[in-house]
Amino acid sequence: MKEKTIFEKIIDREISSDIIYEDDRHIAFLDIFPFEKGHVLVVPKKAYETIFGMPEDEFLDLQKIVFKVVNKVHQKLGGGLNILQNNYKIAGQVVPHVHFHIIPRNEDKKLYYPSDAKYEEGEKEKILEKIKF
Ligand code: AMP
Repeated sequence: MKEKTIFEKIIDREISSDIIYEDDRHIAFLDIFPFEKGHVLVVPKKAYETIFGMPEDEFLDLQKIVFKVVNKVHQKLGGGLNILQNNYKIAGQVVPHVHFHIIPRNEDKKLYYPSDAKYEEGEKEKILEKIKF
């Protein structure tokens, strides 16, 4: 059997994460190494490696959740925002399980990898509370 991705382990509650949204086919949680505070990943529960393997209707459903998360994050955290979606290592994909990055932009700095934003004590919990739905 194929080894589970880290996101499948999050979905199956084998490892913990800061979940902001979940339904039967999607989950969204805070990125553990945020580019900026409030960086969220939106993930389909079905483990496709890239969007190239996804049926169109499942991709469109995922995009609807991305849209909801984008609006929630923007409404609560303000500023600008990037949506990023990587496919294959050559394009920067590290976790081989489809995901969208929702990255609020409130600091005047460039995005680069590895990310370096750090939450102050208690700050992550406050952001989580704000953007959860
Ligand atoms: P990508 O480079 O597009 O594959 O991005 C994968 C993202 O997953 C990176 O931004 C990581 O910081 C994030 N990530 C990896 N492990 C975890 C985890 N356990 N919980 C939350 N985010 C994670």
